[in-house]
Amino acid sequence: MTLPLLELRHLSKHFGGLKAVDDVSFEVQSGQIFGIAGPNGSGKSTLFNIISKIPFGATAGEVIFEGREMSNLSANQISLSGIARTFQRENVFASLSSIDNVLVAVESKHSALTMPEKVACAEQALSTVGFPAVLHNTPAGAVPIFNRKQLMIASAIALAPKLLLMDEPASSLTGPEIERMKGIILAIRDAGISVILIEHVLALLMEVSDQLLILDQGIMIANGLPNEVINDPKVVEAYLGAAA
Ligand code: ADP
Ligand code: MG
Repeated sequence: MTLPLLELRHLSKHFGGLKAVDDVSFEVQSGQIFGIAGPNGSGKSTLFNIISKIPFGATAGEVIFEGREMSNLSANQISLSGIARTFQRENVFASLSSIDNVLVAVESKHSALTMPEKVACAEQALSTVGFPAVLHNTPAGAVPIFNRKQLMIASAIALAPKLLLMDEPASSLTGPEIERMKGIILAIRDAGISVILIEHVLALLMEVSDQLLILDQGIMIANGLPNEVINDPKVVEAYLGAAA
């Protein structure tokens, strides 16, 4: 059996009495797009926070990446070891040009490269996500929201991750933009980067995910093939309960 890329064992994050993530265990295989869904406040973003340690680690449990237990590593060491993340809100350096945003990431991963090599790296990341070349020199704060999302993803890819954690990349996008985002997620996977995808847009999640996990109130209530998981009575109940 091949080693999973990522293994979580009994991972928890408690804020006082609130169990934001509670005893979550699962494995992600290399090459997968691993989907995560769940009602608002079910602990999805917290899960990414504690895997990446941006901004905080777990209360209990283990994160094992490529066979290595990560609890003693800092957020920066985790990033250098090959786990990158994006955020629900597009966090870019608004006053820097778009390409300079990506160069900040390139610099942190490949500081020994020459400047032309760094620029080539940044351009490669921007091209993977289809960021328009005409916007390379536009301040990141001045580009449309879809392009800002592309920029945040390109900056994460520029860290040369093996695993990318994407937190609701389709939020606030129009239907056609969601289709384009789907293409970006598949292109990332095809570039050899495994993906854990948190997404509210279930249609998107169902189309791209090899496996699907559902969180509800911090607890993993289902994990398996997307078509099976989505018909699981516990999952239907969690979603209908949340809608009611
Ligand atoms: P989701 O991403 O699934 O919508 P979150 O992971 O953001 O949910 O939040 C899960 C729960 O943890 C929520 O009840 C939220 O209020 C709480 N929570 C998240 N971050 C913190 C924090 N830093 N301090 C206290 N409570 C938090
Ligand atoms: Mg969230």
